[in-house]
Amino acid sequence: QWIYLDGQYVTKEEAKVSVYDHGFLYGDGIFEGIRIYNGNIFKCKQHLDRLYDSAKSIMLEIPLTYQEMQDALVETLRRNELRNGYIRLVVSRGAGNLGLDPNRCPKASVVIIVEQLAIYSEEAYKTGLKTVSVSTRRNIPDALNPKIKSLNYLNNILVKIQSNLSGAGEAIMLNSQGYVTEGSGDNIFIVKNGIIVTPPCYLGALEGITREAIIEICEKKGYKFKEQPFTLHDVYVADEVFLTGTAAEVIAVREVDGRVIGEGHAGPVTLKLLEEFRSIVEQDGLK
Ligand code: PLP
Repeated sequence: QWIYLDGQYVTKEEAKVSVYDHGFLYGDGIFEGIRIYNGNIFKCKQHLDRLYDSAKSIMLEIPLTYQEMQDALVETLRRNELRNGYIRLVVSRGAGNLGLDPNRCPKASVVIIVEQLAIYSEEAYKTGLKTVSVSTRRNIPDALNPKIKSLNYLNNILVKIQSNLSGAGEAIMLNSQGYVTEGSGDNIFIVKNGIIVTPPCYLGALEGITREAIIEICEKKGYKFKEQPFTLHDVYVADEVFLTGTAAEVIAVREVDGRVIGEGHAGPVTLKLLEEFRSIVEQDGLK
């Protein structure tokens, strides 16, 4: 396995960053998770756009041009000879001193890791996930804008801990007004009376690229879709609930806080959208 680290291709054992890196010291940095399907980098442009936007927002200068970054992704893939898998692209503020000041970090660090991926079994896509709602709030817009895909995932990790303790595989996060925002690493959708609904991201969710792909499918296929705030009550009484994300793709939720959703397994709309999503993953990518 070859890892891209600041312009070099190194082994897993050699891939080390400084203990003074502000990504390590403070979570000061950004990242992307990208899928590779049959050798194509799925939605490469959307991921790189989000990466460069996140960087601009936190005043992090990425030491590679957009084209150089794209080339580095392609070359890392080529060296790893992987046709299907997952890319983790991390840009940290780089090594500085123990102070917070990013001006003390002369150069950002770029890491590209390519790996196999199988987070859920094919069975899980049929049975759906058991989830709980959690009190830990997603980064709220007046703290850290959720559009920034930053390395600060402590909230999401606390959410994961909470869902683990409750024996659930995933969690549903709310914002401080009680509106549903997203999962610990996925966007959320509900289906009620044939209408597919997802919360607007300004409530406190990442603008997921899989979410966007699902919305596009709904528009193209003429499925009834709307972006609308909803509460846990709406989730409990939904006909179907599903999560979307780069790693998870489109996965059903069968239970939320002990309430069984619909028939208690993946519903027809979720399965249809998963099928449609899987049919586009090889088209919409960078070769
Ligand atoms: N929400 C959070 C907090 C995430 O970390 C992710 C995944 O990166 C998502 C949603 C889904 O986004 P995407 O579909 O771009 O992977």
